[in-house]
Formats: sequence, C-alpha cells, structure tokens
Amino acid sequence: MGHNISEIEKRYRDTHSNSQLHFDRVRKVMPGGVKGAYHHLPFPITMDRGQGQYLWDADGNRYIDFVNHHSAQVLGHKHPAVREAIDKQLDRGIALGASMGNEVEMAEEMCRRVKSIDSIRFCNSGTEATLHAVRLAREFSGKTKIAKFEGGYHGNHDSVEISVAPPVDAAGPEHAPLAVAGVGGMGPSVLDSVVILPYDDEFAVERIVSEHAGELACIMLDPKAGIIPQRRDFIQAVADTARKNNLLLVFDEIVGFRVGTGGIQQYHGIEPDLSTYAKIIGGGFPVGAFAGRSDIMQLTDNSSGSARVFQSGTHSGHALVMAAGKATLDQLTSEAFAHMNSLTSRLCEGIQKEFDRVGFPGTAVNDGSVFSIYFTQEDVRNYRTLARCNRDLTLPIVLSMLNQGYFVSHNLVMNSLSLPTQVEDVDGFVNAFGSALEEVV
Ligand code: PMP
Repeated sequence: MGHNISEIEKRYRDTHSNSQLHFDRVRKVMPGGVKGAYHHLPFPITMDRGQGQYLWDADGNRYIDFVNHHSAQVLGHKHPAVREAIDKQLDRGIALGASMGNEVEMAEEMCRRVKSIDSIRFCNSGTEATLHAVRLAREFSGKTKIAKFEGGYHGNHDSVEISVAPPVDAAGPEHAPLAVAGVGGMGPSVLDSVVILPYDDEFAVERIVSEHAGELACIMLDPKAGIIPQRRDFIQAVADTARKNNLLLVFDEIVGFRVGTGGIQQYHGIEPDLSTYAKIIGGGFPVGAFAGRSDIMQLTDNSSGSARVFQSGTHSGHALVMAAGKATLDQLTSEAFAHMNSLTSRLCEGIQKEFDRVGFPGTAVNDGSVFSIYFTQEDVRNYRTLARCNRDLTLPIVLSMLNQGYFVSHNLVMNSLSLPTQVEDVDGFVNAFGSALEEVV
C-alpha cells in the first residue's frame, strides 16, 4: 500500500496524450468540453470506438465499459440486432417529415411491457419527458405545485432542477428540507412551486405532503435505482401518500429498464399515474417519453383541434430512434436481466470484500445492473448520507481504474453493466478496484 496518487496521475497523462490534445482543442470552442457529466481532472478521455463490452480510446487503450453511456447502452456497443434495425431504417430515409410507421411498434411494446401505461408520447430527452409530465399533472389536477425528493434528478428544467445536490448548510433540516435552486439563471418563482421531500422517511413525506396537498399536482419520484437504493416499503408508502392525498404519482423511470422487463415500477409493484422514460428506449440515440393513464395522456391529443397540453418537437418519435429502441427492448428478456443483475450483485459483493480486505470504509450498492461505489460506512439511503461520503479518493481511484482498463463514471456513481459483460470482466473489475484501493490508501 502507498500514497501513489501523483504516480497514478502521471501514468494517466503518459498513456492518454491524444485525449489531452483533443481536450485542449475542444475547450477553446466549447466551454469545458462536450458536456458537464463527462468531465474529470486532469482531462477526460476521448473515445474512438466500441464493440460489445469494450471501448478503445484515442490513444488505442482498451477498456471494459462499466459506464455504457450513462447506463443507456444496455446491449453494449454495435449490437447486431440494433445495427440491422438502423440499417433497414436508413435505407428508407432518415427523417421524412411524417410518421414512418415504426413508432407504433415501439409504443405498443411499451404498453405491453408496463402495466400502468395506456398510451405514450415520445420526445428527445429525459429532460423533455419530465417537463411534459409536470405540465400534464398541473393541467389535469388544476393545481400548480409539485413535490419532489431531495437528491432526486429529473433533468435540466426549472421545475425539477431544485434540491438535486444542495449544499447541506443551505438545505434546512433533514426531515423538512428546503427548496434550493440547482443552477443559476432559473426563473424568479421556481422555488415557490416545488415542495421538497426526504428519501427514506415515510413519516416526513406524509406530514409534508398533507400540509401542502391542496396546492400539489403530483409527487415526482425517482426511485434512484443503484444510486440511493430505496426500501420497497418506503416506495409503497410514497405511493399510498399520493393516493390518500389525491395527488398524481409520477415515476421517473429514466434509468428504469435496468432492473427488469416492466421497469422499476414492476419491481416495486406500483402502478403510477404517469411515467417518464429515456436512455435505454432510444437504443443509443437521443430519446425521451412520457406515458401513463389514458385520461391524463388524452390532454396531449390534438387530432380533433387543439390539445390542452401541446407536445411536438422536430425529432420527436424519430424513425431511426424508434427502430433502434425497439430492437434494444426486444433483447431485454427476463434471461437478459437475470444475467446482468446477477453479475452486478457479484460485482458489488466483490467490491465490499475488497473494502474489507484493504481496511477502508466503503460500500457498493446496486439495483439491477446499475451500481455506485461510495466511501462511507453509512447505509446510503437519503441525500444527507450521500452528501457525507468521503470524496477525497474518488479521483485517484477513477484514474487508477482507467489506467487498468476499466471505464468507470467520473464520480463512481451510476456505473452499469451491459448484456455482453462476462463473469471474467466483473472479477477483473473487482481485482482492479482492490489494486486501486491499495495504491491510494
Ligand atoms: N431523470 C433521471 C432519473 C436521470 O437519470 C436523467 C439523466 N441522467 C434524467 C432524468 C434526464 O435525462 P436526459 O439526460 O435524457 O435529459
């Protein structure tokens, strides 16, 4: 064991010179590079290509991919069924200014898989999906506020980018959290239109919701699969609170098809009024969707005049995306989930053993095939425990994992497996993590 942090960074710099060149170039024309969530010091990796569970970067280094494009690439890279669906679609054209028919197959598949969905509309990102779900909830209920959870992320629009990762000293008491703006530049009244709830505390949820029930349109719940795992009885209690107070329940399923064939709501045995989707259902392309009870979704129907909640979008329901998404869902059988879920549990158990062996406090959590690694001895169940985790070792561990050929997320949160991943890949990851811990502790 040793304090080899500068050695790890030196090795990273030495073996990623093309990534560094690319980053130096791109940041001159794009502030901070391509997007917020990929960045880490000293510079992020530029990837060249992917195949199955593997990635190769601009310097020719090979990785086993445990990021899978923010969890969206559930089949890994260049899956033949997805390639075939895309090729077929490309032959017909890319975007023809009218339905090309294949969105209906995707919509029928979603309705078949998820019991709570009567109908669905497609858009281009999870952000758009939650934006439209909130509008629908407001218009349907005639009420204006929404309740969301502290630490819950639902994308980049004003009504939800609140109390996502607030500084704890500005966030009020743990059991009665305050609304804190997530980013600068938000509209002036956004904080007044959101009520914040704590995860893992059904009594506080019931108390806060019943205080505000007269003005709340919905409870928006991200069950936080693989990030802040929630008790089933807590999720059930939130659903009961929504029903009891006559509020709509909106499930953010944007990471949902990582647990089972019917999404995370099936796993929890809950039928929400509305659900939002993205990531996996686009087969690697930009996508979003909101779906649910027909009497609510009906508000978007403009076929006999104007809709009460108009939703469109140049590329919404894009034929290529629908084709890739449907081909992806077709691969996601119960057997596929069983393979990925058992490997992810094996991985988390292995990581836990490495923490114990090296004698450093840490934990690995998963729901289905999404997993996160935290440096803490606490049970991570709500935002406040998450905020207390030690982050000093995150960067050196990430760089060491990259040096060893394992692609992990920049903060070790929301990593995921893909279907081609094998037991040797998982055991290799665990060994590499043990070596990384030894290097830095
Ligand atoms: N909700 C959840 C739970 C998410 O994880 C994300 C994206 N990570 C979003 C919403 C936003 O989706 P998108 O990035 O497609 O806008």
